[in-house]
Parts: sequence; C-alpha cells; structure tokens
Amino acid sequence: MNAHVLTLNAGSSSLKLGLFALGGAGPAPVAAGLVEKIGATPRLELRDAAGDIFADRPLDPESAASHAGALDAALRELEARHPGARIEAVGHRVVHGGMGFTAPTVLTPGALDALETLTPFAPLHQPHNLSGVRAAQAAFPEALQIACFDTAFHRSHPFVNDVFAIPRAYYDKGVRRYGFHGLSYDYIAGTLAERAPMLHAGRVVVAHLGNGASMCAMQAGRSVASSMGFSALDGLPMGTRPGQIDPGVLLYLMQQEGMTAAEIADLLYRRSGLLGLSGVSNDMRELEASDAPEARQAIEYFVFRIRRELGALAAALEGLDALVFTGGIGENAARIRADVCAGMGWIGIALDAARNEAGAEIVSSDQSRVRVMVIPTDEEIVIARAAAVLAGAPGQDRVPRG
Ligand code: ADP
Repeated sequence: MNAHVLTLNAGSSSLKLGLFALGGAGPAPVAAGLVEKIGATPRLELRDAAGDIFADRPLDPESAASHAGALDAALRELEARHPGARIEAVGHRVVHGGMGFTAPTVLTPGALDALETLTPFAPLHQPHNLSGVRAAQAAFPEALQIACFDTAFHRSHPFVNDVFAIPRAYYDKGVRRYGFHGLSYDYIAGTLAERAPMLHAGRVVVAHLGNGASMCAMQAGRSVASSMGFSALDGLPMGTRPGQIDPGVLLYLMQQEGMTAAEIADLLYRRSGLLGLSGVSNDMRELEASDAPEARQAIEYFVFRIRRELGALAAALEGLDALVFTGGIGENAARIRADVCAGMGWIGIALDAARNEAGAEIVSSDQSRVRVMVIPTDEEIVIARAAAVLAGAPGQDRVPRG
C-alpha cells in the first residue's frame, strides 16, 4: 500500500508540509518539515517520523522564490526518501472559510473561487494559503485538493458570540467573530473525547498559546466562544499582535498621528504584543531569560489577559470542568501555566506544582475541582485525517470531530 496524503500549510514566507501513509487505522506520519524564508534565503528542513532530520540545506533563492518552487524542492527530497509514495490527496490549511465553509471541503474550481473572494477578510494569510493550493495542483494534477479551515470549528457559535454591535448590515456582509486556531481546537476536542470523555462532554476552556494565541470555550466538544474575532488580532496579546484593543486607539492613530491603514496593519501584526511591550523579543523563551523589567511586564500582561479571558469564557460556559493548555508556550512554559493558575482557586483550579514542572498530562491536584491538562496539539493530523476521509481512504468513514 503506497497511498499517501500530503498536508500543506503555506504562510507568507514559509511552507510547512507533512507526509502521511494511508491504510490501517488512519493516516500515519511518515515525514514532516518546512521551507522557511521563501523569497529571501530559503532553507529546507525535513524530519522522519522519529523526528530525525534527513534534509537540512539552503535552497537556491531563485528556484525557490515562490511556494511552487519551494514545494518542488521539498518533493524531490521526499520522493528520493520514499520512492513510490503516491499522493492521493493534498490537505491544505486555509485560514478563512467565511460564513459558508463549515467543514473540510474538496477544492473544486467553484470552491476555490469562493475562497478567493474571502481574501479581504484575511489579506495577510488567505492569498498565501491559496498560492499553496495552486502549487499543489500543479505538482499533483490528479490528486484531490482539500481545504481545512481555521474558522470552521467556531461556526457553531451562538449569535451573541458571533456579532459586533455595529449596524446590522455589516453582520449580513460577514463582519462577524469568526475565531481561528480551529484545527488545533478540533484536535484537542478529539483527544479529550478519547482520553477523558466525561470532560469532553462538559465545559472546557482551551488555551492555545503559541506565537499566535487564542482561547476557546467548548461545550460538549463544540466551540461556543473564542477570544479571537473578525481577525486573528483580537483577544490575547501574542508574539507581535496586541490582542484586544480599544478601537478608539486606532482612530487616534489615524486622526492624530496620521497613520495610514498599511502602517496600522504593520503596527498591529508585526510590532505589537510581547515584542512591542517588551522591546526585547516576541519569543517567550527569550523574555523568560531576560533581566529587563519590560520583559517581565510583557509576561505579566500576557498572563493577566489569559486569566481575564478564562473568567469571561467560564462565564460564557456557566462554569468550568477543565482547562487545557496547548501550543508552544502552553505545552512547554511551566512557569506561565503556574502564573495563570495561581489565585484561580475561586473557579476551582488547584495546580500540582510537581506535576506542572514535570510537564505531566494532568497538572492539577487530585483535589482540584477543575482538571487542568497539557495536551500537545497536532494540526497536521487533523488535516491528514480529513483529507483521508474525503479521498475515501479505507478505514476512514467520517471526518473526525470532537
Ligand atoms: P506558532 O504559533 O508559530 O506555531 P508555537 O506554537 O511553536 O508557535 O509557539 C512558539 C512560542 O512557544 C514561542 O514564544 C516560544 O518561545 C514558546 N516556547 C517554546 N518552548 C518554550 C519553553 N520551553 N518555555 C517557554 N516558552 C517556550
């Protein structure tokens, strides 16, 4: 059996890919990696299923100046390592599915056109995602192309968590709280369903804390609220994004500081958040290692906003049964988890310091009314499973959903 699926996550200057073998119980990881710094000094890195690197080299900047060139270079390495691997389907991470795309979708020409029209909703991400689709279509004209959306998991939001109080016409035009990181939340919901079905059936807040960060309130495995809204700027402060900000600040920047929309976009996407506040770094490890008081304040603000959002999401859920940490910071930064949970006894959280330091799966104490867990996320396997289902791979009869 040499049928495989490929997963692609195309960003502005990077292309992450995963190769999965089909057959058996579900897609099995075979290789994964990325091309980074596309358009500047591209570099390819590929690992096998055990995590051992088998390709790590710079690429020719001219031939890998686009996603298509980068994909081509990565595929040559993969083919050399896994000759005969036949790609049945390519699963793409697509940031925005708008109001219409509520599940993984086979990319017909019509669906692709519809996704192009959503570019104004995510101008910094959607065009790159779709250029990854075009690159894969050229490389695998016979394979199914499948889109998996960061927004889809949140389409179950009730009206009050989907709307802004601006004139109704904008809501009808799609100015809504979409929410993002849906593939990660889908993975966590599915994992909870397997490992802790009672919690999965209850009220759970998931904190996806990476370079991008958001939180999601789930009831019975379905999203009822998210800290991210119309764009991936809202909610928690992130590496370089501010999180929630009074819109009056943006008016002030335009009217008094004379900033253009492009300058404000640059401020909000690239110069704010942990980087902007600390003046040191967007990277949590560097902030934790820094002696600068501004670095400490940036971490304090990050923790404060997570705690505040936790209270708000617990209110939306009318209680809390579990808190799950995931993402690079959520999975690895024991100190951040401890600071978030400190003083949360009122909501029923009691952390076990030793379990937390050890990075155990359950980091709350046995007496804690709310279970606190650390679950490493895996967005690629969510994409691979969806692609396997839509490609009709044996052993896959439904799109896994939390
Ligand atoms: P992305 O959103 O780009 O996928 P990740 O989920 O990989 O990002 O998270 C990256 C963040 O995780 C960075 O801020 C990094 O410093 C942080 N991180 C990773 N490992 C640790 C660690 N051991 N301690 C603290 N922070 C960590």
